[in-house]
Amino acid sequence: MDIVAVSCQHCGASLKVPMGTVHLTCGQCGTPLLIQYQGQSIFTQRQDASEDSAANVQQQLHDLRTEVEIARLDAAWQAKRESLKVSYGRYGRGVPRQEFAVIPMVIFVIVAGLLFAKGNITFAVIVGLLGLLSMFVTTIAASNYQNERAKYEAKRQGLGGKDPLAKHRNDPRNGHYF
Ligand SMILES: [Zn+2]
Repeated sequence: MDIVAVSCQHCGASLKVPMGTVHLTCGQCGTPLLIQYQGQSIFTQRQDASEDSAANVQQQLHDLRTEVEIARLDAAWQAKRESLKVSYGRYGRGVPRQEFAVIPMVIFVIVAGLLFAKGNITFAVIVGLLGLLSMFVTTIAASNYQNERAKYEAKRQGLGGKDPLAKHRNDPRNGHYF
């Protein structure tokens, strides 16, 4: 059987082992070693170091999976958010805001008041009811949006990583509504 000489990765002691040996404990310093055969070169590696690097690879794999999961979650939320947007007429589409429920309501009340003053009671009641309906629809849309956002943020926080909405939140154009 061929005997090969390797040096301990830890203390440098020269060790003679039969070719093909995999595990070895250094006779000089007692470090557990793995013998690596790579082509013509034979060298030793501390066994704990290789366990470290195995753990490292595991960790990297885990991080990578988390990143993929986060990217998927973010993309799903962006699509969901887009679908929950409502039309603000000439202002374009935006996320539903509870505050905005009041504006059409006020307009409807004013119109209903004018109709009432003109003695047009039936129309006044109809317009008033439309105002209520519009307020309900906006309120429901806004609360649905808030729920969906909260669900996404909770999942996102569970996965760790940075706050994905931070840059939007800090954008003054989004105010505190994002
Ligand atoms: Zn040694």
